[in-house]
Amino acid sequence: MMFESLAEKMDQTVRKLRGTDKMTEANIGGALKEVRRAMLDADVNLRVVNQLIADVRERAVGQDVVAGVEPGQQFIKIIYEELTRVMGKDAAPLSTRAAGAGPTVVLLAGLQGAGKTTAAAKLALYVKSRKAEKPSAAAALEANPPPAPPAPTGPPPKVLLVACDVYRPAAVEQLQTLAGMIDVDVFTDDLSLGAVEIARRGLAVATEGKYHTVIIDTAGRQVINDKLMRELRDVKAAAKPDETLLVVDAMTGQEAANLTRAFNDDVGITGAILTKLDGDTRGGAALSVQSVSGKPIKFVGTGEKVERLEPFFPERMASRILGMGDVLTLVDKAEEAMDAKEAEALTKRMVDNTFDFEDFLKQSKMISTMGSFGGLMKMLPGVGSISGQQMAAAEQKLKLATCLINSMTPTERKQPDLLASGGRPPPASPASPAARGGRWPTPRRSCRTFSACAR
Ligand code: GDP
Repeated sequence: MMFESLAEKMDQTVRKLRGTDKMTEANIGGALKEVRRAMLDADVNLRVVNQLIADVRERAVGQDVVAGVEPGQQFIKIIYEELTRVMGKDAAPLSTRAAGAGPTVVLLAGLQGAGKTTAAAKLALYVKSRKAEKPSAAAALEANPPPAPPAPTGPPPKVLLVACDVYRPAAVEQLQTLAGMIDVDVFTDDLSLGAVEIARRGLAVATEGKYHTVIIDTAGRQVINDKLMRELRDVKAAAKPDETLLVVDAMTGQEAANLTRAFNDDVGITGAILTKLDGDTRGGAALSVQSVSGKPIKFVGTGEKVERLEPFFPERMASRILGMGDVLTLVDKAEEAMDAKEAEALTKRMVDNTFDFEDFLKQSKMISTMGSFGGLMKMLPGVGSISGQQMAAAEQKLKLATCLINSMTPTERKQPDLLASGGRPPPASPASPAARGGRWPTPRRSCRTFSACAR
């Protein structure tokens, strides 16, 4: 888990500070040293770590503990606020053009393998699904909810992907495949025209076709070189993008931050998309990018699938880093996954005490579309301390329960008591399945199903 050791250190600190009435150098000095080490282990940039520790120390030492608040909690609150500040404090949403001002242009840059082409498709789906326009469901739960804009109406925004990686025909094909999966148009042309000309033509098509957003995928390189930077500067000058986003791989730790600074100094960017945050990343990139480059992380990639893109919220990330969960993102995900009417009906059935196994199945299906079980659980406060093994065991149990319910007939799902009263009667052959109230699986078949599920 990202920043696992930092979350653990925080937990220990809270326990150590229990019973103290003032935070002093003596009682928080050791904790700060540990936090510093945990951050360096997570590959956070040294300058960022030193500044953060100095700021926390200055704010914490000598502070009287507020009555009714645990000193450890107060210390964590200071760290939480400083982490949020280091990551940019406020979320930086995608800039979009006003209606009638032509398509919003997004230029993507990055090294090979960072996840640029995947990010282009993810972003296209994000815009097409109106997530950029919709207020976050969680926003309403925040302390000062912003006024909700009117709900968007009409057909989904049209997005055009422009394939400008003129050196790798395979990259063009990859973009076409991904675009096919999300039903988004791709503009390609003769690669010998060069990236600048293809970008120009793509933009003309987008303006003519009244597209809402154009996303330009450019060529990547294994390392930064002059030719790459020159080409990017030229495409940027021709396309005049509203957003120039650098796609960086979180697994490269603080190197991601250095890269963001280098691209910003040379080409000028408006932000970064941090990919592979679902992987075995130590998390240093998330904390270093804004501080080192001065540019915000706008999105994070949390999986290979095209749906796995989340806007970046510094406060929510600070909360995750400290093992405090991220309920707001969980609320957003739930809203995306669940049909509002269906969710309301299920809630009503729970309140009325008529929630049955059919409802349970529907709900677990909805949850499975929200992401990996482990990933979702970590968004709940306190669950960060549960080991991966315990999480896997819980997931297995849920799978098994789903499998058992799947093997029940529709009648049994509505009236599980039928099974409690002496088990199932042998099927009265040759009655039709309808007469039997549904399908009776043969014992062999259900056995096989269970063992496959339990694996
Ligand atoms: P490009 O060379 O920068 O265009 O990179 P690609 O888009 O081809 O991605 C390189 C690899 O990273 C592919 O296998 C992607 O599926 C994978 N990838 C991209 N984004 C993510 C992410 O957020 N999480 C994970 N786990 N893999 C990703």
